[in-house]
Amino acid sequence: MTYTANSQRYEEMKFRHCGRSGLKLPAISLGLWHNFGGVDVFENGRAMVRRAFDLGITHFDLANNYGPPPGSAEEMFGKIIQDDFAPYRDEIIISSKAGYYMWPGPYGEWGSKKYLISSLDQSLKRMKLDYVDIFYHHRPDPNTPLEETMGALDLVVRQGKALYVGLSNYSAEQTKEAVRILKQLGTPCLIHQPRYSMLDRWVENGLLDVLDEEGVGSIAFSPLAKGMLTDRYLHGIPKDSRAGGQSVFLKPEDLTDEVMAKIRSLTDIAEKRGQKLSQMALAWVLRGGRVTSALIGASRVSQIEDAVAAISGLDFSAEELASIEAILKK
Ligand code: NDP
Repeated sequence: MTYTANSQRYEEMKFRHCGRSGLKLPAISLGLWHNFGGVDVFENGRAMVRRAFDLGITHFDLANNYGPPPGSAEEMFGKIIQDDFAPYRDEIIISSKAGYYMWPGPYGEWGSKKYLISSLDQSLKRMKLDYVDIFYHHRPDPNTPLEETMGALDLVVRQGKALYVGLSNYSAEQTKEAVRILKQLGTPCLIHQPRYSMLDRWVENGLLDVLDEEGVGSIAFSPLAKGMLTDRYLHGIPKDSRAGGQSVFLKPEDLTDEVMAKIRSLTDIAEKRGQKLSQMALAWVLRGGRVTSALIGASRVSQIEDAVAAISGLDFSAEELASIEAILKK
């Protein structure tokens, strides 16, 4: 059926400036790492992208290697964009990345100019796009000069293949240096994409300060700790969940007694706030305005609806924050 976007799609979503740039991102963005691969059901992926856009999620995050198989998430997304979203392309922010293993030989991963340029060209073909809005270097490369990698990011912007560039998984120190080089080249770093959730707070140890100082925005990936910060595992491990499936990224052994005890205590606080734990976990990464957007994953439409409903409850009292802190420190 032909898709027509919801005319009220901008009524609930909040948009925030990404660092000191002119680009605004939605408080909730949707990532296509899981559930959009060649092994997944196309109509479910399409329904999730449609529902997300109808709820004001204008930003969709991809990478060359998302699938499985690698590349297939970009193919699925490309088909969805072509079939349903052609009239809406100018309302959508699409990102992709290169950095992890993509093809054999010395030019298929890491941070050389050869790899980054070839990979973005492949991504554009798979998604059938003329340009991506944001192109990231996906992980730091200890064996390539940062000048070369940043030079490649600068080049894709000058070629019109990307509008903005970003970094992912760079430490505070690496970020500072990369941001300096990009500034010199005349292509400012728009955004950093780090992992950040109640269960993984490494960004609080310097990275967020660097981003504030430099005026770089941030988008927190796995804000639900891959599904742990939800009600998914409160009563065991469902077969259709990430931990219950084939994913090597979340295993049953990650759900330790210690983690489950935290999840139960956090659920109690969320319930007192009138929220689900997943909603409180998203509000928490967005607290204080330091993080521009929370980048969720979803396996079904209802999870996207849950996430967007978190927007009406972003504020915390000092007592709530203190109670959360006490649980996380245990
Ligand atoms: P999340 O922490 O948001 O976990 C998403 C998973 O949580 C879903 O697939 C679902 O799992 C479960 N879930 C979501 N909402 C709910 C809900 N309301 N109730 C119950 N369960 C829920 O993020 P991801 O780990 O998926 O990462 C998000 C995105 O971040 C990726 O798609 C990608 O774009 C980006 N990313 C970037 C990385 C990088 O290196 N730059 C690395 C990893 C991710 P289930 O399948 O069990 O239903």
